[in-house]
Amino acid sequence: MGPPGAGKGTQAAVIAELLGVPHISTGDIFRANVSQGTPLGIEARKYMDAGEYVPDGVTNAMVRDRLAADDCAPGFLLDGYPRTVEQVGELTAMLGSSAQRLDAVLELTVDVDEVVARLVRRAAEQGRSDDTEDVIRRRLEVYFEQTAPLIELYRTQGLLVQVDGLGEVSDVTGRIVAALALES
Ligand code: ADP
Repeated sequence: MGPPGAGKGTQAAVIAELLGVPHISTGDIFRANVSQGTPLGIEARKYMDAGEYVPDGVTNAMVRDRLAADDCAPGFLLDGYPRTVEQVGELTAMLGSSAQRLDAVLELTVDVDEVVARLVRRAAEQGRSDDTEDVIRRRLEVYFEQTAPLIELYRTQGLLVQVDGLGEVSDVTGRIVAALALES
């Protein structure tokens, strides 16, 4: 977990590789659907381009499908999900029905000025259609309203692991590996 621009996608890819489990990024799945012009992509794009969350019903169904695939049986790393209280409830139900559980919830902590600067840079480099300044501001607001409260929820469940997300990518990876007590 962490606000837009915290580095979730970058770190999740590395950690999933280290763990040998699939990296499931809801943002990447939505973007792949947008670029292929699927009905899911056409629906999701309306929300993504405005900096809003895709409705829970759509997102939950997509994650439910993905987690049912065979490659998720030994484990998986979720990136960008859950992001709302309702998604937390759905995820708990999905995991319950497959007798799986979360091992940890990792939060990358960053300061807001730093993430805005990163996102503006990413906009220039990659041209993501949701990386314009107005949309970035809205995505941050939505994060603080809807997703930040989940951090307390997972803290009370004893699952929360917080890692400082500032600095070089490899330094942050090192902190995550240490915090989760993984072999690298
Ligand atoms: P970032 O972490 O930079 O916000 P993501 O790639 O994780 O980017 O997500 C991009 C967009 O995809 C979000 O702004 C939102 O519109 C949509 N999205 C991704 N995950 C979810 C989710 N769990 N629930 C609702 N919408 C989501």
